[in-house]
Amino acid sequence: MALEFHCRSCGGLAGALVLDLGVQPLANNYLNPGDLFQTEPKFPLRLAVCHGCGLLQILDLVPPTQLFCQYAYFSSCSDTWVRHAESCASRYLGEFGLGPRSRVVEVASNDGYLLRHFVAAGVPCLGIEPAANIARVAEAAGVPTRVAFFGATLARELAVEGGLADLILGNNVFAHCPDPNDFVAGLQALLAPEGRVVLEFPHALEMLSQGEFDTIYHEHVFYFTLTAVEPLFRRHGLRITRVERTPLHGGSLRVFARHITHEADATVEALMAEEARVGVVSAPRLADFAARAASTRDQLRSRLAAIRAAGYHIAAYGAAAKGSTLLNYCGLGRETLDFVADRSPHKHGRLMPGSHVPIVPAVELARRRPDYTLLLAWNFAPEILEQQKDYRAAGGRFIIPVPEVAIV
Ligand SMILES: [Zn+2]
Repeated sequence: MALEFHCRSCGGLAGALVLDLGVQPLANNYLNPGDLFQTEPKFPLRLAVCHGCGLLQILDLVPPTQLFCQYAYFSSCSDTWVRHAESCASRYLGEFGLGPRSRVVEVASNDGYLLRHFVAAGVPCLGIEPAANIARVAEAAGVPTRVAFFGATLARELAVEGGLADLILGNNVFAHCPDPNDFVAGLQALLAPEGRVVLEFPHALEMLSQGEFDTIYHEHVFYFTLTAVEPLFRRHGLRITRVERTPLHGGSLRVFARHITHEADATVEALMAEEARVGVVSAPRLADFAARAASTRDQLRSRLAAIRAAGYHIAAYGAAAKGSTLLNYCGLGRETLDFVADRSPHKHGRLMPGSHVPIVPAVELARRRPDYTLLLAWNFAPEILEQQKDYRAAGGRFIIPVPEVAIV
């Protein structure tokens, strides 16, 4: 059967299905116990690749207003992420010579976890954040925040109101915007002639090579390689001038972009060459990725069932979006998992989407001491294993699902 496909970047009509993760609820739609009396909205979750530009993308989009009204992700709840923000801010302040006459804009500024460092340094800032409840937290911390979705129309308004930006930041937002052309056109419209854009997003090369199928969810529309992103920027008069690889979120890219009159350095060509050499979205690699996801699912199901059958208790750790994808794809729920522990107080007392496993404070792990804990937030494994060393010392064991199912 031919696939109905329309690339959201290049407009191409030829594409192929890569992985079908079934019909899933929205991964960030944490339920209240009373919601169980209503039908939970679910949508097909399928990853496809464009044969024109090689961009990996979700086939079935959910309107963004439905996505963000209940958004409960607070950036400041992760130590790794808070430290990352601090070091990025101090680097950019120095490297780009930012001062009281500069302007920094961050797209999807969340609770102000990053911009607060620029505010402290006396650099004028504006955060753009679609979730009103999270924007209020940023404002309370002294970070001016506009409740809006970023795009070309808003960017032109902001340029008129407050002038062009010397630095535009976007951490883990680009891949979540359903119209990447509108997003990049907005960056171009708001960027000062000598300004810089710095975006971070998970690198699809890592997702594919590490079998990170659970990073796929409806809100995460795109899975970028540098090869697919570079022409998208050029189409809108911007050039990726530098690229760096970071270990965050299972392997991410940090791309620096400027107006197209600026030159790229050697890092861009080097990574493009590496992606070409491994055939980053070649048909055999994509088939291997799909087979590996199915194998992880089968292994997890059988191992957890055996542990449960032997009378042991299993919990999970990390009520993040990837946990929702993993539990729903693997068909794991309350029959297997007693609870999901998480540090974010905004999620406590709520239920995981689809699987309906209750979310409890992280301290419950040490108190209730399940024999095994499935680490859904495997991307923060070193941080969590360190925080939970008492639980481990008392005999508790973690099951890490990705890149290979492992018990530690
Ligand atoms: Zn395309």
